[in-house]
Amino acid sequence: MSTVFMNTYHRLPVTFAKGDGAWLTDINGKKYLDFSSGIAVNCLGHNYPPLVKAISEQAAKYNHVCNYFSSDVSEAFAEKLVAACSGAAMKKVFLCNSGAEANEGACKIARKYSLLKYGPGRHKIVTLRGSFHGRTITTLSATGQDALHKDFGPFTEGFVHVPAGDMDALERALDPKTTAGFLIEPIQGESGIWPLDGEYGRSAAKLCAGRDILLMFDEIQAGLGRTGTFLACEAYDLQSLGLNPDLVTLAKGLCGGIPGAAVLAGEKTMDVFQTGDHGSTFGANPLAAAAGLVVLDTVNRSGFLKDISRKGEKFVSIIKGWKDPKVKEIRGRGLILGIDIADDASDDAPGKAWPVLEKAVSAVNPGLLLLTAGKNTIRLLPPYIIKDEEIEMGLEILKGCLIL
Ligand SMILES: *Cc1c(COP(=O)(O)O)cnc(C)c1O
Repeated sequence: MSTVFMNTYHRLPVTFAKGDGAWLTDINGKKYLDFSSGIAVNCLGHNYPPLVKAISEQAAKYNHVCNYFSSDVSEAFAEKLVAACSGAAMKKVFLCNSGAEANEGACKIARKYSLLKYGPGRHKIVTLRGSFHGRTITTLSATGQDALHKDFGPFTEGFVHVPAGDMDALERALDPKTTAGFLIEPIQGESGIWPLDGEYGRSAAKLCAGRDILLMFDEIQAGLGRTGTFLACEAYDLQSLGLNPDLVTLAKGLCGGIPGAAVLAGEKTMDVFQTGDHGSTFGANPLAAAAGLVVLDTVNRSGFLKDISRKGEKFVSIIKGWKDPKVKEIRGRGLILGIDIADDASDDAPGKAWPVLEKAVSAVNPGLLLLTAGKNTIRLLPPYIIKDEEIEMGLEILKGCLIL
């Protein structure tokens, strides 16, 4: 493996050379079944033929125009994306490139919304302990995990973290004199696949609405159909309370493997950004938009989301059928699942999930690609196009790897 990369990742000694559907092949010809989708990015698997066609055709037309002008394909993508988010009453979109960048944009909108309406001093954004919102200084400040904070201060001022599920703490933190927004993941991804309780979500939404504090969903990992609804926050059925999120961020799978991200805004926030307030050189990139159109067209196909739910249930029922005492709990919805394989251990105990991941990768042909989340949770984010027999085959490999 090349040694010129900075040492930011715990990389396994596997170098991929090609992909096809839910499969990857390394430079030695060994095949791997992919339960990771490159962390929820390759939602349509590898080299999905309509995606390859759309990218190739777009590459042969033009790849970039600056945002002084518009492009046919990015207009089509933006229109379709906003329509796909109608379940959360989203009205307008800002297109950018990564999850962190999308969350930065959402935080800027929240601050300006509050400043215009209430004047200075009401810029706080509340997030949850265990959350993950990105790696830039500001999105790290939003991220409620102390371990990621060491070494990088000073942080962006104005972020407050509260424990997930604690309504009293939230009520105290959401001070309407100082707070602009409440930013949450409907399912906390990086820290262990922790779905936020429905009642908590609904109560938080009511609290935010009553205090005119913006409700901001970070759906970068859980959105885009992964939970079986286009946006994961649709599960809260906020519309039955007459409520909607104010901002939603998407990234990871948005363009099926090409970098792309979005900040979506509802009625209240859609016109906060005005000319000159924000921008991104690569935002609304035509190649990304062409890829994103294929993702949206595929996910919006009749029955596609239902099938994601069905596949998720298949995963869960097979794992439960093992009756393996090492499986302590299965969390998640649709194709975002966490399997706890040890009870919560003390901080200095070695994690149990990583050795399973290593064992699965090195399983004799084929290997299996897994993810972890937290120390003892195996995280599954398989591509939406995974076949039933591939689910069965991959889980058979995983089962063998639990015997350590
Ligand atoms: C991955 C992730 C991010 C950061 O996205 P990047 O594209 O890596 O900047 C933010 N929030 C959540 C919930 C994520 O899963």
